[in-house]
Amino acid sequence: MTLQRDTILHIGFDDTDSLQGSCTTHLAVIIIEEIDRQVTFLDYPRLIRNNPNIPWKTRGNGAIGFTIKIAEEKVNQVIVTIKRSIENYYQPDENTNPGLVVVKGNIPEIIKEFSKRALIEVLSIEESKEIATSHCFDHYFIGNGRGLIGGLAAIGNILNPRNEDFTYEIITYRSSDLFGTKRRLDKESVYEMDKKLAPEVFNNIDEETNKVLICPAGPDPVFYGIRGEEAEKMLEALSIVKTLEPLDAYCIFRTNQGTDQHFKYADERIENYRVFKGDIEITSKPRILLGGHVILQGIIEENKKLVDIAAFEPSKNFKQKISKLLPGDKIIAYGGVKYNQEHETHTIQLEKCEIIFISDHYYETSPLCPKCNKRMTSAGLNKGHKCKKCGFKDSNIPKVKIKIVREIQRELLIPPAQAQRHLVKPHRRYGLKKKESVKFVENWWKKYLNE
Ligand code: ATP
Repeated sequence: MTLQRDTILHIGFDDTDSLQGSCTTHLAVIIIEEIDRQVTFLDYPRLIRNNPNIPWKTRGNGAIGFTIKIAEEKVNQVIVTIKRSIENYYQPDENTNPGLVVVKGNIPEIIKEFSKRALIEVLSIEESKEIATSHCFDHYFIGNGRGLIGGLAAIGNILNPRNEDFTYEIITYRSSDLFGTKRRLDKESVYEMDKKLAPEVFNNIDEETNKVLICPAGPDPVFYGIRGEEAEKMLEALSIVKTLEPLDAYCIFRTNQGTDQHFKYADERIENYRVFKGDIEITSKPRILLGGHVILQGIIEENKKLVDIAAFEPSKNFKQKISKLLPGDKIIAYGGVKYNQEHETHTIQLEKCEIIFISDHYYETSPLCPKCNKRMTSAGLNKGHKCKKCGFKDSNIPKVKIKIVREIQRELLIPPAQAQRHLVKPHRRYGLKKKESVKFVENWWKKYLNE
């Protein structure tokens, strides 16, 4: 009898989707269905969101990572199955460049470092190919191979509970004959679920508009996604939310969504598309652009660089508070850097902002009358002031300075759920107990048989 030897495989893939109706998480479920009987999943599939500022993303810059145990002799066959699934799934276009990376055994430090940088920098296809080739990682790509970047990053970002925050998302998928049709959802059941499970679930409903946010708008295969803290709660959410069409499948992903993981590794460097975090002193009054965007100028405390700071629609309350900032105020800015070639300026597009210092501002006005206490008026240039009520005049009495009541306070500002990026930690997640471990639930994915 020969003993069956098992091995651990880390699999990462990305860039298999397009706006025409596909999604990398959907492919993940198709692959899980194909390989589940031959392997043991040691973790939920990980949905890793990388740098949200890169210009060539389709939507939320998400990549998928698997960690599985597998018999040695099945490794090649499983890799072939995954390659075939990618080939069958992706729709060729110049913006879809699938990449798959497979790492056996321990994850080398170089990939872990790469995955941290993928959260905040713009990485090159060449570097990802170089890492994969020089370390002899099994890898495969179509087109220019850009998907290798996300693939490597999803392998390296293991969301270890010891040092990283993480969340879950349960994603449900539609039957293929319904792709592109209007999603029929019982919205009341979403309000009910949110009320029952908060704060264990988040970003289901926009706090400003009360709009249900769990369904994407486009023709993609996702019916809805619900985000939360524990996998059991995800299954509970699934049992409460009602759809008016049969679902094809669901899967629970472990993710870095809602964790601020990109800000954990960000700094004050100003480079196009980089993630920024740093203290800034405001140096200008706000300008409100057509369309409601708010622009301010500021100086970065660490490197004294001048930058523009922008808050965009549709973050209404957020933007309104940003528009109350004045020169001398200090903030910690969190966002993405964008270079404007025409004006040769850099703008930090705010994802969140902490007001840490509010400066004093004054305006000058006429003094109160020393006789009757009414506000005096100017008696003309260099002629002092006069009182219209009692007739008192004084050619030497100066103007007085009055402190402006500032309409802001020291606080952390986060745009409402509707305007938030996937990685941003929402208010609801502040103050929750840190998760110590990953609890694996039995029915973490399912394919429904809708005959
Ligand atoms: P979806 O959210 O629907 O899955 P997406 O927004 O993830 O789509 P993709 O089509 O996967 O978009 O495109 C993102 C591309 O950017 C991928 O090829 C990925 O490898 C690459 N990428 C990810 N992070 C970085 C980074 N930090 N630097 C450069 N490229 C990156």
